[in-house]
Amino acid sequence: MSVMWKRFYPALRIKYLTDLKPDDFHARGVKGVLLDLDNTLVEWGQVEVSPKTLAWVEEMKKSGLKMCIVSNALEERVKVVGKKLGIPWVSQGIKPRKTPYRKALALLETTPGETATVGDQLFTDVWGGNRMALFTVWMTPLSTKELFFTRIARRLERFVAKQLRKKGIISE
Ligand SMILES: [Mg+2]
Repeated sequence: MSVMWKRFYPALRIKYLTDLKPDDFHARGVKGVLLDLDNTLVEWGQVEVSPKTLAWVEEMKKSGLKMCIVSNALEERVKVVGKKLGIPWVSQGIKPRKTPYRKALALLETTPGETATVGDQLFTDVWGGNRMALFTVWMTPLSTKELFFTRIARRLERFVAKQLRKKGIISE
């Protein structure tokens, strides 16, 4: 496993958003959390937020954490979810490029060292977060429905995940 794969290492692996407790962030000095949209906050291509996710966002906000959606999706849909959750958003982001993250950090007024990111894809969310030196959390996608190109990327992702498990970086 060469150094080149390190960019895809998540700091934390979770199954559900609700696996994350406010203290997981506070204990690490995290003040802001950047959330992916598709297959993280909502099922792919949707705008419906489950009551569990809604309650989770509320719990995080109440604990003092600032949150922002960072998505590659179009403005219209990202905006709907941002408004539902009462948090700011950055849309049409082209993750893993740094621009959308920089915009989100400016909105939350946090530094990379005090910011975490949660997303379901290694090659956009984790890579992008690592490029920005954020605390990266990799989550199991909410649904199996996704873009054709994402499905292709998943094959490579599965390969990387296998290496991560071998190295003991993630356990499942
Ligand atoms: Mg996603």
